[in-house]
Amino acid sequence: MAFGWIDEQARARRRAGLVRTLRPRPAGSPLLDLASNDYLGLARHPEIVEGAAEAARRWGGGSTGSRLVTGTTELHAELERELADFCGFEAALVFSSGYAANLAAVTALAPHGSLIVSDAGNHASLIDGCRLARGTTQVVEHAEPEAVRKALSARPGPAVVVSDTVFSVDGDAAPLAELAFVCREFGAGLIVDDAHGLGVLGTGGRGAAQAARLAGAPDTVVTVTLSKSLGSQGGAVLGPAGVIDHLVNTARTFIFDTGLAPAAAGAALAALRLLRREPERAARARAVATALYDRLTAEGHEAVRPDAAVVSVRAPSADRAVRWAADCRAAGVAVGCFRPPSVPDGISRLRLTARADLTDEQIGRAVRVIGETRP
Ligand code: PMP
Repeated sequence: MAFGWIDEQARARRRAGLVRTLRPRPAGSPLLDLASNDYLGLARHPEIVEGAAEAARRWGGGSTGSRLVTGTTELHAELERELADFCGFEAALVFSSGYAANLAAVTALAPHGSLIVSDAGNHASLIDGCRLARGTTQVVEHAEPEAVRKALSARPGPAVVVSDTVFSVDGDAAPLAELAFVCREFGAGLIVDDAHGLGVLGTGGRGAAQAARLAGAPDTVVTVTLSKSLGSQGGAVLGPAGVIDHLVNTARTFIFDTGLAPAAAGAALAALRLLRREPERAARARAVATALYDRLTAEGHEAVRPDAAVVSVRAPSADRAVRWAADCRAAGVAVGCFRPPSVPDGISRLRLTARADLTDEQIGRAVRVIGETRP
């Protein structure tokens, strides 16, 4: 049996209580959503839905080809210009996902002979970028600029430092200004993944780099996803025009992938324009996160103080985290549940996402249900 080992693995997963299953979400679910990454509540906003529908009517259901052949429409070019302008960078390049954008940025900017210094808490897509890149990766202590300095000084030469801006599991922020300082000291490039910062951090949601006064810096490259606060799907890399040209010419997840679907580009563009008009949404998402944290910790839960819109609540064990999340769901509140192997530190948690459109009543209900179902 060629795949007999799969059954073996499945049995081990069941024994450890780590089986994952897909649960299709019905349209119009009555659940209170604290599990999605729709931080600004835009995924179902009429303007965003219309942006997607109008783009599909005009440009079709798919982009029809890779970006270098037929997959670049005027809509893609418009989205790239507006995204770069909004975040304060010279140029932008959109990808079919944030995952693909991260693979592109790391592999294209860390060639053979270079050093990649990667934070231990980085997202899987950055980790996979490091694995695919020809450079040599050194993983360093989480959110520790001194560890980055040590790694860079031990191996002089071309280098990039790679970090999430907001870490997806605990919602804590990277020390961006300090990382940029260390990078400048050693002439290293800085690649940061702002998947959880765009739309939430910075002036009107312009992202973590803008908040840290790094937007447009010559040695800084930012990756984003269009699938969280922008309520769409896709990803992008932002940076100096020369870097973006380099990606167009060398990044495999750009060259060999079909271009972003027009509907996704149209939705993201509509979200960007809405965010310009309603900049208060970003601050509201942060305020909801702080309110959730304050009320949960006041009731004795152990949580990480949120730097953006993700609130991480510690659970006693993996199986109790799973039961806790299931009980919350049964009581009408959807929460995320992170457990090994998604969390390498072995600590399981509930992951709550603040949404700008949550009402105070909904925040109160979520906190009450999490308290009542506590294992
Ligand atoms: N980076 C981070 C930090 C993420 O959390 C995610 C999404 N889970 C991604 C990248 C990937 O983005 P996308 O879902 O658009 O592929």
